[in-house]
Amino acid sequence: MPKHLFFPYNQDMTEIVQKDNPVLRQKATEVALSEIASPRIQGILADMKKSLASQKDGVALAAPQIGIPLRIFVVAGFALTEELQESKDCPADLIFINPVITKLSKDKVELEEGCLSIRHFYGKTIRSTKATVRAYNEKGEVFQRGGSGLLAQIFQHETDHLDGILFIDHATDVQEANTIQ
Ligand code: ZN
Repeated sequence: MPKHLFFPYNQDMTEIVQKDNPVLRQKATEVALSEIASPRIQGILADMKKSLASQKDGVALAAPQIGIPLRIFVVAGFALTEELQESKDCPADLIFINPVITKLSKDKVELEEGCLSIRHFYGKTIRSTKATVRAYNEKGEVFQRGGSGLLAQIFQHETDHLDGILFIDHATDVQEANTIQ
């Protein structure tokens, strides 16, 4: 096994780690393209989808959030296209392996932001209104995807995770939401 793919795989990998976990502060490692089809990586992708699906308000999840320091994130199908959000024909969750932001708009906007690893805090961030990401899918095929609004915000938030950056590092007015008991 290549050294860079070694990490402890002995906990429940669908559990979302919280902000003080050092894995969230690591720069995640690229996935070797030859490994994408391996049962190990496919298992991680399945765990990520399962973990994301377990969070009602979850729009996306990065691998470090389940303790895996690899450059992968997944976006929930319902967050991919605003038009289909309410539809039953919701697209499947989309996997991004070794994602790179290739375009960011100069246009920026202040947005409300939260994170599944910083429960239940929200703050205001400044994000580009449009972003384009190039990545590999779960079959190892390269693709490019542009997004605006929520999807552009997701792209920026998730690629930050892969560099050990959390939204609270740059957000303002961070507050704990009132949780309904
Ligand atoms: Zn997050």
